Amino acid sequence: MKLLKELCETPGIPGREEKLRAIVRRELEGVVDEMRVDALGNLICVKRAAGKRRLMIAAHTDEIGFMVSHVDDKGFIRLVPLGGHDPRNMVAQRVTVQGKRDLIGLLYPGQKPTHLLTDEERKQQPKVSDFFVDVGLPGEKVKELAPVGSPVTLLRDFAEIGDSVSCKAMDNRLAVYIMIRAMQQAKRFAFETYAVATAQEEVGLRGAQVSAFGVEPDVGVALDITLAVDIPGVPEHERVTQLGGGTAIKLLDSSHIAHPGLVEAFRSLAERR
Ligand SMILES: [Zn+2]
Repeated sequence: MKLLKELCETPGIPGREEKLRAIVRRELEGVVDEMRVDALGNLICVKRAAGKRRLMIAAHTDEIGFMVSHVDDKGFIRLVPLGGHDPRNMVAQRVTVQGKRDLIGLLYPGQKPTHLLTDEERKQQPKVSDFFVDVGLPGEKVKELAPVGSPVTLLRDFAEIGDSVSCKAMDNRLAVYIMIRAMQQAKRFAFETYAVATAQEEVGLRGAQVSAFGVEPDVGVALDITLAVDIPGVPEHERVTQLGGGTAIKLLDSSHIAHPGLVEAFRSLAERR
């Protein structure tokens, strides 16, 4: 759990995955034959096997977050969102602003507190663009410490809850963890294997595309989280996975239809285990 906790708690918005790259590098040093970083920020870790076909395993290292776009005279920070945020989950969240030093802040929608809302105003849902960060410091100081472009990520401690775990950035640090452990524990490699810690997934799968063109694999496996929707409020026919029911094997999504042979190979492997 120590490595998973470290991966989840480490901040890394799209384009600023360097701290995650350092962890993957540390864990796979000596496990693979070669490590390189491409211009986009993908860390490509290669286990050589001359003459064998190429397998690329990809896990994105970035998390959804924000970039500072403006600081006003009172020190309130405006944001550009990176990745798909749900405003329902943002109200009063604690964040870190990674400026000249780390600043702890709170996310608020630019709206009156509930006590002051009229019935009409109460019906309006906040939008992601309504939110600002309050770091509790005077404007001049915030302008100096949190320049435009500073990354902002949720601040959340890793917690073990019952048989489960909870943290920010479980998407996709859980998959990064699985990729690291798989590489460390593999006893033999039937393919020349490329474990790629990819960059900028949350803003359009950019790292995976660039690195796939660089590696040119015969087989590609993308590791990511999915929704465990066996919960109240979701009808049974929409429950694509169940918590504790094993690994989910993707058949298709909005940008990809999986190769049926590969789906079958994974299915039979899962059933044998
Ligand atoms: Zn993801």
